[in-house]
Amino acid sequence: MPWQLQARIADSCLAKHGTSCARCIEACELDAIVARPVLGGRLKINIDLDTCNGCGMCIKPCPVDAISLNQSGEEQPPARQQSGEHV
Ligand code: SF4
Ligand code: SF4
Repeated sequence: MPWQLQARIADSCLAKHGTSCARCIEACELDAIVARPVLGGRLKINIDLDTCNGCGMCIKPCPVDAISLNQSGEEQPPARQQSGEHV
């Protein structure tokens, strides 16, 4: 497959700003979205792009429309982990 859709999380993600939210994690049947605690009690949300199949099930549950689908594959940068950049 030359390319496929995969999810991306924008900076508008609530978790980045300290608000507890895991709706996208609960929506992903492949467990491609994981959260881990970071300093300050916030969560860092990561999408495992090797697991994500671009189904889009995580998009609608997000209260701030932070998730989008983008094409990936041959044009994808080397990094396989995409982060919400939560600190
Ligand atoms: S697009 Fe589908 S597989 Fe990918 S993270 Fe969202 S729910 Fe999971
Ligand atoms: S559902 Fe949206 S706001 Fe909530 S953790 Fe996922 S990307 Fe962030």
